[in-house]
Amino acid sequence: VPLARRGALEGDQVADVAIVGGGFTGLWTARELLVREPGLRVVVLESETCGFGASGRNGGWASALYPIAHDRVAERHGRDVAVRLRDVLRRAVVELGEAAGDEGIDCDFARGGSLNFARNEVQRSRLMAEVDAARASGVGEDDLAWLGADEVAERAAVAGALGATFTPHCARVHPARLVRGLADAVERRGGLIFEGTPVLEIAPGSARTAGGHVFAQFVLRATEGYTPLLEGHGEEIVPLYSLMVASEPQPAAFWDEVGLRHAETFADDRHVIIYGQRTADGRIAFGGRGAPYHYGSAVRPGFDVDARVFSLLERTLRELFPSLAGQVTHAWGGPLAMPRDHAPYVRLDRTTGLGAAGGYTGDGVVLSRVAACAMADLVTAPTGPSEYAGLPFVNRPSKSWEREPLRWAGINAGLALAARADREESRGKESRAARLLDRLLA
Ligand SMILES: Cc1cc2nc3c(=O)[nH]c(=O)nc-3n(C[C@H](O)[C@H](O)[C@H](O)COP(=O)(O)OP(=O)(O)OC[C@H]3O[C@@H](n4cnc5c(N)ncnc54)[C@H](O)[C@@H]3O)c2cc1C
Repeated sequence: VPLARRGALEGDQVADVAIVGGGFTGLWTARELLVREPGLRVVVLESETCGFGASGRNGGWASALYPIAHDRVAERHGRDVAVRLRDVLRRAVVELGEAAGDEGIDCDFARGGSLNFARNEVQRSRLMAEVDAARASGVGEDDLAWLGADEVAERAAVAGALGATFTPHCARVHPARLVRGLADAVERRGGLIFEGTPVLEIAPGSARTAGGHVFAQFVLRATEGYTPLLEGHGEEIVPLYSLMVASEPQPAAFWDEVGLRHAETFADDRHVIIYGQRTADGRIAFGGRGAPYHYGSAVRPGFDVDARVFSLLERTLRELFPSLAGQVTHAWGGPLAMPRDHAPYVRLDRTTGLGAAGGYTGDGVVLSRVAACAMADLVTAPTGPSEYAGLPFVNRPSKSWEREPLRWAGINAGLALAARADREESRGKESRAARLLDRLLA
């Protein structure tokens, strides 16, 4: 279906809630507000078209992952909070599929779980230790299992896999279908969406665009990786680029050999993250980090493309699946947002009416919906308890990034360290770079 852009804002509008950004965060927030209070006047303002950002171009892992390890969440907030967060996220994977179904959105949702392969001895030890630690903290076999090489081969024939962890808490989705369907759902529920409408200034009670203002009691920012482009928001998050490639549809013989019959998403345990999915039309969509951080938190369309990273991704993809047929037909990328303390945020100041949600790093497909539910509860202030509003990332204090050039030097040194750790571990050696990285991320 060709993508027709909705009209831009022309003239002023009055609303109850103005939302800046038409990605998952903005659109789920609009939808959740309209579910809770059907008469609410909700306006979404989007610079380009809904789904233009990471929401329309991601790897489609609808996972229960959180950017901070469970143990570290427990250290920061206590074990009960960490367990509750984990439970909410696991349920949210299922609920995302249900909500999409309720809205009639066909987004290829398939809850086949996720495989994390060990492709060298160091990865194997680390993943086995992760399973042991999970067991010790009460996580059962049904939530995280270790699969030996033979069991892995039955599910996914990946070159060099010595074993894998498997969790059922992940679904494969087609992100662009989901985000576009969500925009339609918001309109069906009475929300207004203006596209081609960059917000130039956010102030208490209003969002200013070139075509007019939206005056609203609540103005919520959902701009994620593009946040530094907004005046006065340069230090909140850093934009990191993740890039992807997709193969042409593979013949039946390839899938007979490779498996992934339940559309399990997959990765291996390297430090420079990779992620893949079997798409509904039989391709492999495969992505990873590895692009540099750009000085001054710069965000430019040109950064979505990086020939070096694309060729690295294709090489890795062909290493994993040596019988992959044909060409890589698509390559793209985009910015995600990483806060200084790596934790996402949902904030609402009821005095000013200003709010913001985001900072999911690479885990925003499900987290954005959880954040949106929390934000909708904060705005509508239900009288009963809200399981979302009590999550550890809601109304937490923010921490600014270091100023340049320290920020640039630190982040790119971290990225270089991760690449070095992978090289060392691929030779079967415990890596000093990995230990250092671990300490830096703690
Ligand atoms: C290549 C890639 C792969 C990824 N893979 C996964 C994955 O497999 N699983 C996962 O969980 N997460 C993944 N992520 C992260 C995930 O996609 C994001 O966390 C999530 O989509 C963020 O949604 P969002 O709505 O907050 O931000 P976005 O989708 O980036 O939306 C922000 C929107 O705001 C608009 N905007 C910005 N500034 C303004 C302004 N001033 N005025 C109006 N509009 C504005 C933008 O145009 C954009 O549409 C990936 C990200 C990338 C880039």
